[in-house]
Amino acid sequence: MTLATAPDLTAPRYPTARNFVNGRFAPSEGPLLDIVNPSDGSLLSRVPLSSRADLDSAVTAAQQAFSRWSTTPIKERVQVLYRYRTLLERDFIQLSALITEEHGKIQSEAEAEVQKAMELTEFACSLPQIVTGEVLEVSRGIECRVDRYPVGVVASIVPFNFPSMVPHWTIPNAIALGNCLILKPSELVPLSAGKIAELLTEAGLPAGVFNLVHGGQDVVEAICDHPDISAVSFVGSTRVAKLVYRRATANLKRALALGGAKNHLFVLPDADPAPTASNVVASMSGCTGQRCMAGSVMLAVSHTDHIVRELVEQARRLVPGIDIGPVISLQAKERIELAIAEAISAGATLLLDGRNVKVPGREGGYWIGPTILDQVRPEMTIAQQEVFGPVLAIIRAPDLDQALAIENASTYGNAAAVFTESGAIARYVTERASAGMVGINVGVPVPREPFSFGGWNESKFGAGDITGRGSIEFWTRAKKTTTKWSAR
Ligand code: NAD
Repeated sequence: MTLATAPDLTAPRYPTARNFVNGRFAPSEGPLLDIVNPSDGSLLSRVPLSSRADLDSAVTAAQQAFSRWSTTPIKERVQVLYRYRTLLERDFIQLSALITEEHGKIQSEAEAEVQKAMELTEFACSLPQIVTGEVLEVSRGIECRVDRYPVGVVASIVPFNFPSMVPHWTIPNAIALGNCLILKPSELVPLSAGKIAELLTEAGLPAGVFNLVHGGQDVVEAICDHPDISAVSFVGSTRVAKLVYRRATANLKRALALGGAKNHLFVLPDADPAPTASNVVASMSGCTGQRCMAGSVMLAVSHTDHIVRELVEQARRLVPGIDIGPVISLQAKERIELAIAEAISAGATLLLDGRNVKVPGREGGYWIGPTILDQVRPEMTIAQQEVFGPVLAIIRAPDLDQALAIENASTYGNAAAVFTESGAIARYVTERASAGMVGINVGVPVPREPFSFGGWNESKFGAGDITGRGSIEFWTRAKKTTTKWSAR
């Protein structure tokens, strides 16, 4: 008979996250960081902060795999991704549950993320039909053709807010197009990346084509400096996007760095009140406001009090722990609460206060409910800086041109949306908004494949977009061949 022992409450739920190099999980000697479940503060796992030596072995593995993988026909390469897509579907429940655990987002949001990972993989499976090359007889007997070749060993650095979806923005397309990739997940949510490695291997991806290196600033800097990495894609805050873009391009790499956002929602008096209110609420509070497409400023043009009343009532009904997850960390919670307090001191009117919410049984979580501030002025910090929490700042604008001037003055430019029943107004805003992605009566205007995701201004550095057809140029090099056969 064995004696039952009391559970060790300090033991993490999962073993320490490991790097994945050359088709195998590999430990790192780097110091370990705790991974905490944001909904209750419990210890989930630990993640290593990898060293340059860890990165070196991943790059070596990727280089070794490259010659074979890059010359495998693309139709053969995507067979792995067809199988991988099936595995995502098979493990759908397990994968979404893991996202909820490490990130905190509610189950429906985690499921939507895995669904999106599947859709992104499907697009990559269609790449053989898209990158067929071009050919033209440019003079009699002389032909020019353009073929796309992979770039080489590439890296993808990703943020915490979508532990599975954002890695899938880059992994399927980059490897379908013949590159060997090193993923650097956020050190706050490293566990989903391990599942990606497992499933790609099960799908038959050759060793070294996909590698995973955990860590933070040091390993990101090492990626930007590494002489054998040819391209670096980054998604995260604007502050770090600038650092990464500057450092990678200074080292003569191609780089694409997506940054933060401050998305404006134009609400016109003729907008259909109930759907507009629910769209605005979903945009500001979905994913607890922790997404680069979140509506953050509502530009209430002229007489829109009836819509403001409706959206406050809808937001008030959202229950933290059921309809809305926690934010990622105590630090994030404190930063968001401070932003709210500062806005109130600066003269904003608090219509709905999400601070001090409690979720019974999960008191250790980092909870903030939907918060709505009215009478915000464009010069206030809350109107200008990214909050990355479920906070909506309402700015009253007397007319559409003044609302557009406020939106145009933002340093960001990820998304904008307009709510109106008028096609003419919708077009007027679409043409003038300084944003890469625009919604008309759509609060979160994420372009679906084959269209591409990417913002303007300080929301993106580098040419092209990160998903869809717009990413092909980034992950490939064009070879131009001119042919002339002597006439017989
Ligand atoms: P972050 O910039 O703090 O971290 C992103 C990545 O950079 C992580 O992998 C992190 O380890 C690394 N990193 C952090 N500090 C670094 C430093 N000083 N030097 C080098 N690397 C560093 O971003 P986050 O908090 O993980 O994610 C939230 C941010 O990401 C928000 O600003 C959000 O708007 C943005 N985001 C943008 C998009 C987009 O498409 N534009 C999509 C998702 C998230």
